[in-house]
Amino acid sequence: MQHTLAKAVSCAGVGVHSGQRARLNMRPAPVNTGIIFIRMDVPQGTGTVPAHAETVSDTQLGTTITNEHGVSVAVVEHLLAAIAGLGIDNLIVEIDAQEVPIMDGSSSVFYEMMMLAGLKAQGALRRRIRVLEHIEVVEGPKRASLSPVADDSLTMRARIEYTDKTIGVQQMAMRLVPGSFARDLAFARTFGFARDVDMLRSMGLARGGSLENAVVIDENGIMNPEGLRVEDEFIRHKMLDAVGDLMLAGAPIAGAYDAVQPGHSINNKLVRALLATPSAWCWEDAGSLAEAGEGIRATA
Ligand SMILES: [Zn+2]
Repeated sequence: MQHTLAKAVSCAGVGVHSGQRARLNMRPAPVNTGIIFIRMDVPQGTGTVPAHAETVSDTQLGTTITNEHGVSVAVVEHLLAAIAGLGIDNLIVEIDAQEVPIMDGSSSVFYEMMMLAGLKAQGALRRRIRVLEHIEVVEGPKRASLSPVADDSLTMRARIEYTDKTIGVQQMAMRLVPGSFARDLAFARTFGFARDVDMLRSMGLARGGSLENAVVIDENGIMNPEGLRVEDEFIRHKMLDAVGDLMLAGAPIAGAYDAVQPGHSINNKLVRALLATPSAWCWEDAGSLAEAGEGIRATA
């Protein structure tokens, strides 16, 4: 069945780029709503921004969505990842500023808050997007693809390679199934390089960034006194970002995501390429997964 939150929950914090304080209020939503942001600080009737690949307007240093009135919500990916990780289909997210608060740089706060509020099963079958054909996007050294799978889950694999030896080469593979997001990804924090901070600040970015909400790397290694939460926190955060960016397809994806040097830009291009290729995917009700899985195995 489709799920929404059992009751409303809220939190507040600063945006990592704007430095602006924002309050978020997550509210239950009716069946087939999907995930919708509503800006509370703009004229009424102009603030609704659906979380969908088609509304993505910027992918530099985070994913920004914008509606037809030019109203935006920035850095939606960590919250969307928590929503996807919990298996929430319908949700209204009210926000009173332009940027989703960064909290601790991971999805943990959002995830725990919504998990404690509890989920409510709704009176309609969950719909998901089943990948039927291999779709691949290439952007210089970056590559991302979606391929069919025989079951009903999102299988994920990613690899990153940095010349900086603190990160180096990291790779990870997992299946996004109930519980795996909380266990393997939710806690992984965003990261950046100290050498980029001055440049970002001169562009008006990273104003709210600090060692409290990002892993920062300089020539000597990790600057955060507490160090890393896990040795491979970097690739785990890239996987977390991908969970959030893939959520923008509009429904959970049954498919295999495979990426090299992934980022928000290539993730969004991949989702758009999938949705723009009618033969590459179909809608599927959760109840019909066994039959669809059989069908795919038979034609593979
Ligand atoms: Zn991120």
